[in-house]
Amino acid sequence: MNVLVINAGSSSLKYQLYDMSTESVLAKGLVERIGMDSSILTHEVEGQPEVREVSEILEHTTAVRKVLDMLTHRKFGVIDSVDEIQAVGHRVVHGGETFRESVLIDANVKLEIRKLFDLAPLHNPAHMMGIVAVETNLPDVPQAVVFDTAFHQTMPPTSYLYAIPMVLYRKHKIRRYGFHGTSHDYVSQTAAEFLGRPLESLKMVSCHIGNGASCTAILHGKSYDTSMGMTPLEGLMMGTRSGDLDPAVVPFTINKEDLTLNEVNSMLNKHSGLLAVSGVSSDMREVVQAMNEGNESARLAFEMYAYRIRKYIGAYAAAMNGLDVIVFTAGIGENSDLLRKKVCEGLTFLGLELDEERNQARSKQTRRITTDSSKVDVLVVPTNEELLIARDTYRLVQKAAMAKSETPS
Ligand code: ADP
Repeated sequence: MNVLVINAGSSSLKYQLYDMSTESVLAKGLVERIGMDSSILTHEVEGQPEVREVSEILEHTTAVRKVLDMLTHRKFGVIDSVDEIQAVGHRVVHGGETFRESVLIDANVKLEIRKLFDLAPLHNPAHMMGIVAVETNLPDVPQAVVFDTAFHQTMPPTSYLYAIPMVLYRKHKIRRYGFHGTSHDYVSQTAAEFLGRPLESLKMVSCHIGNGASCTAILHGKSYDTSMGMTPLEGLMMGTRSGDLDPAVVPFTINKEDLTLNEVNSMLNKHSGLLAVSGVSSDMREVVQAMNEGNESARLAFEMYAYRIRKYIGAYAAAMNGLDVIVFTAGIGENSDLLRKKVCEGLTFLGLELDEERNQARSKQTRRITTDSSKVDVLVVPTNEELLIARDTYRLVQKAAMAKSETPS
């Protein structure tokens, strides 16, 4: 079965076509600048030169049609006809409290996703455009949705409630939801497989450290607590996001700097984090380079960044009353041995022993970076959210097909 994975943004659309018999990627690509006059489609097939096509793509339905044209293209395509796409899986950021797991799309699911627009105004409406665009182009192909929040729906109220008037939770569902769930789910499963231990037996902290960053306490395979909150602003320091801060900073800054609420919101989301403290960049590679050249602000930014990850790991070890495994993933977590070292340096009290050589080894594979005698295993696991979306979609479509064939006619 071939599964097309779609991640639709407001002006972009990423895709990957999977052959599920081997879980291999047949082709992948990106449509950028949707709605502008010169949209760009970039299409990649392993072992072949990248294809770039510039054209006018005014909305998502055309973007999906262009993608399908490319996938079936005589020269650059990988399938003969769109009939070879048996299912489509979509990434959806917010599933609220409604969706605890991935589901096949029907009219009711679409209605529920629409009800959640308020909670993710930048993301969910764009995902819906992607869903409708696929429906228009491939009306007979089943579609599934995989939510970034779903994995965290196992959190107990002690983790997900904020200590504010409960009426706000009841009326508006203001609570911690957590994000990057697909990644935390994927890397925790992969880590357990790598260790050859049942996931249900492990106390794990997974650290998804990319432009956005979050830590999750995974107790016996289920999300127990996570650092991002009602929105992806809470928790760790990030590329441009502040992460945790005293909420009183917001009204104080508004008064002192004569800013509007929207301006402060934008400051905390887009002009804070690594970028603000280093004064150099939101990109970790550039911050590390500046630090190595003696820039003290860059050093401070790097150290604050690592310190906060370490604090969350420590907090979650206490929350779970123990810790067996730490997983690092995403752009920085997978690639920066320096950051991993800085985080682990202060965790020796847990019996964690980093193996310098293993930590510095360059590899795209899942690997252990602690010594064989370390009491806590630290792993680097390359994340693959698209593969998990493809797997969930495949499983749901197969289940539905089986249920249908078992129904007496
Ligand atoms: P996104 O959240 O946008 O998916 P990524 O997971 O791709 O982000 O992570 C991007 C971050 O990874 C950037 O800060 C980038 O500098 C960092 N990164 C990538 N490679 C390295 C590296 N070799 N060393 C340090 N940081 C790296």
